[in-house]
Amino acid sequence: MDAFFNWEQFNSIQPNATTLLTNSISKGRIAHAYLFEGGKGTGKLKLGTLFAKTYFCSNRSDYYTPCQKCSNCKRIETGNHPDFHIIQPDGQSIKKDQIKQLKAEFNKTGVESNKKVYIINQADKMTVDAANTLLKFLEEPHKGTIAILLTEKKSSILTTILSRCQTVGFIPLSDSSIIKILTDQHDINLPIARLAVQLTNDIEEALLYCNDESFAKARQVVVKLFEVLINGREEAVVYLQTGWTQAFDLKNRENIILGTELLYILIKDLLYIKNNENSRVVFIDYIDSLEKFALNFTSERIIIYLNIILNCKNQINMNANIQLQLENMILQLLEV
Ligand SMILES: [Zn+2]
Repeated sequence: MDAFFNWEQFNSIQPNATTLLTNSISKGRIAHAYLFEGGKGTGKLKLGTLFAKTYFCSNRSDYYTPCQKCSNCKRIETGNHPDFHIIQPDGQSIKKDQIKQLKAEFNKTGVESNKKVYIINQADKMTVDAANTLLKFLEEPHKGTIAILLTEKKSSILTTILSRCQTVGFIPLSDSSIIKILTDQHDINLPIARLAVQLTNDIEEALLYCNDESFAKARQVVVKLFEVLINGREEAVVYLQTGWTQAFDLKNRENIILGTELLYILIKDLLYIKNNENSRVVFIDYIDSLEKFALNFTSERIIIYLNIILNCKNQINMNANIQLQLENMILQLLEV
C-alpha cells in the first residue's frame, strides 16, 4: 500500500513543496532540474514519483491531478515506465557508470514521447566522477527531460550542480500528520499509531511497526510489566522471566532496547497525567488505569523511574549483559 497518494494528501504534510510543484505544472513552468532537500521519511521520493505521474499522465483530471489509472500512471507506480528512471546508490555510492548509462538511455529519443524523467535518490552519494558526468548532462538540457535529485545533505552536492537545480525544501513531518496518515490511509488503530511515531518520524518505518503483530503484543507486555511492578518484587521478577522474555527476544539486543523504550514511553505518560497534559498521553487506551497509578506517584519518583530505564537502555546499547541489566532495572525500580 502506498503511503502517499495524491497532491491533497501531500499538501497537508509538505505545503510549500506541493504549492511550488503544482504551480510549476499548472503554469507550464517546469524546471529542467529540481533538488528535493529534506530529512529521511519526509516523502521526497514519493513526491518525485507523483510529480512524474502528473507529468506523464494521459488523462489528468485537472492541471495537476494524475488519474492513477492510465498505463503511464500504472507503469510509473510499478517502476516499469520506459521513460522514467530512478537511480539509487549501488552499495555505498552512485557511480560514474550509472550516470553514463542513464545519459545513454536519455540520449535516445523517448520511447513513447519526448518526455523523460529521472530521479537520483541520495544524490549526495554520487562519486566525484559521477557528479561531474551528471553536471555535463545538466549543462545541455534536453527539452522534455526533467531531473529530480533527492538529498538529505544539500551541503555535500557540488555547487555547480546546485546552481542548475531549483531547490524544493521538505520539512520534517509532525507527529500529528504522521498519525493522521497512518489512521486515515492505512487503517491503523490510533493507540498503535501514537506509539509508533514516538519511535520514528519516518512514515515507512512507522508503518512497519504498525503492521507488525509483535509490536502490538509488545505494547501489552509493557503495560503488564508495569502493573506487576506496582504489585511488588516477586511478581515483577517472575514476569520479567516469563511474559517479558516471551515477548522480547533476549538474544536480540535491538528488540530488548525497543522493550525498554516502550516502558519509558509508558512511564512518561504518568508524568503527562501529573502535569495535566492528558492530550500528550501515548498509551491512550490505558489512560484510566494510568490515571489511577499516577495518583500513587510523585513527579520526582516518576523522573527517577525514567532515569533508571534510560540507564538500562544505554547499558544494553553499549553491549552490557542483557539479562543482568534487565534484572538490575527491575530491582532498582522496585526500590524507588
Ligand atoms: Zn494517468
